[in-house]
Amino acid sequence: MERNYHTQMEAARRGVVTPEMEIVAKKERCGVEELMGWMAEGTAVIPANHGHRGLDPNGIGSMLKTKINVNLGVSRDCTDYDVEMQKVMSAVALGAEAIMDLSSHGDTRPFRRKLCGECPAMIGTVPVYDAVIHYRRDLSTLSAQDFVDVVRLHAEDGVDFVTLHCGITRKTIEQIRSCGRAMNIVSRGGSLVFAWMCMTGEENPFYSHFDEILDICREHDVTISLGDACRPGCLADATDVCQIEELVRLGELTRRAWDKDVQVMVEGPGHVPLDQIAANMKVQQTICRGAPFYVLGPLVTDIAPGYDHITAAIGGAVAAANGAAFLCYVTPAEHLALPNVDDVKQGIIASRIAAHAADIAKGIPGAREQDDRMAAARRKLDWDAQWLEAVDPETAKAIRASRAPEDDHSETCSMCGKFCAVRSMNKALAGEYIDIL
Ligand code: SF4
Repeated sequence: MERNYHTQMEAARRGVVTPEMEIVAKKERCGVEELMGWMAEGTAVIPANHGHRGLDPNGIGSMLKTKINVNLGVSRDCTDYDVEMQKVMSAVALGAEAIMDLSSHGDTRPFRRKLCGECPAMIGTVPVYDAVIHYRRDLSTLSAQDFVDVVRLHAEDGVDFVTLHCGITRKTIEQIRSCGRAMNIVSRGGSLVFAWMCMTGEENPFYSHFDEILDICREHDVTISLGDACRPGCLADATDVCQIEELVRLGELTRRAWDKDVQVMVEGPGHVPLDQIAANMKVQQTICRGAPFYVLGPLVTDIAPGYDHITAAIGGAVAAANGAAFLCYVTPAEHLALPNVDDVKQGIIASRIAAHAADIAKGIPGAREQDDRMAAARRKLDWDAQWLEAVDPETAKAIRASRAPEDDHSETCSMCGKFCAVRSMNKALAGEYIDIL
């Protein structure tokens, strides 16, 4: 079918139903007209580059099922494309709707193209990481146009969304110097943009060339994920003037993108105390007029290296229940090392639990039903039915099998054995004799 629109947002505004909208509406159990309304106003997006042929499209918006992203990519310490591709495919099998390719070593284009050619999940990138590698030149020697050209390259390769740190400006340099942040800037891309501005004396190229970037994104339908360079890197920096000032600029840029029918998400914190998360979500939704919020955590405490998939899941659940639409996974290796295959799995499962908990709280169609099916299976001590609903059946089965009850293997588990409350109640209510000894 001939495409007669540039972006999904433009199609929604013109009343054109795209194949991607039909798929997403079906998945989300909503009407396609309703979905188009959200997309036309910018509160929902379907990142879907025209060049990503095998994409299984998904919608992102606070009224839709919470989606999760997994960061992977080739690095100096993991240079094997095939190993990284295996991680990608197992992440998709575990339920990740998006993969961000954060490759930072060697020739990154073949892997990016392989991803866009073979992976059905949405593909995101951070072009500023790639600029230094692509040109094989030091950061300070790159021109503003060089950065824009890398965005074009990623768009041509089929990337569905790009994180662009457009919201920091030369004013931010003074602000970071004067406001006494405990952790300064912890965003990798944000720190590169900041360093480039410091070394060249020029304005942020992603801000100064925003209109040209919008034209590229409109042509290929690349969704912009407005990066939060000043996201807090510790609780002490949460909700400070640097974070909020950048957010205000992201709100302005959101409106400029929407004026050109370019789809936008807005990235958010970071490390945030639990009691500040709901307020952060409300402020973002107000300033950015409900553009889908993509949170990196938030991590609710700084003291749990090795367990940051848990600190992030706690924050992610609260954030999503209060309006965040998209969770970036965090693994146990966060702050410590490059995640291995098991770290990736732990991070995905933790994020999926957070997303599901939020979806139940938000009343997302289909979310609560899964828990009700699990309750029914538990009541019947039907273990096979429980595996069908379990977020990680493999682990659940392995734990049960490794510690099976001495007798009565098929009914109870070894936690209470014959003192099993479920078994006793089932028998008592059925008028049966209850043998304990
Ligand atoms: S033995 Fe205890 S933990 Fe296991 S199913 Fe019965 S009540 Fe639940």
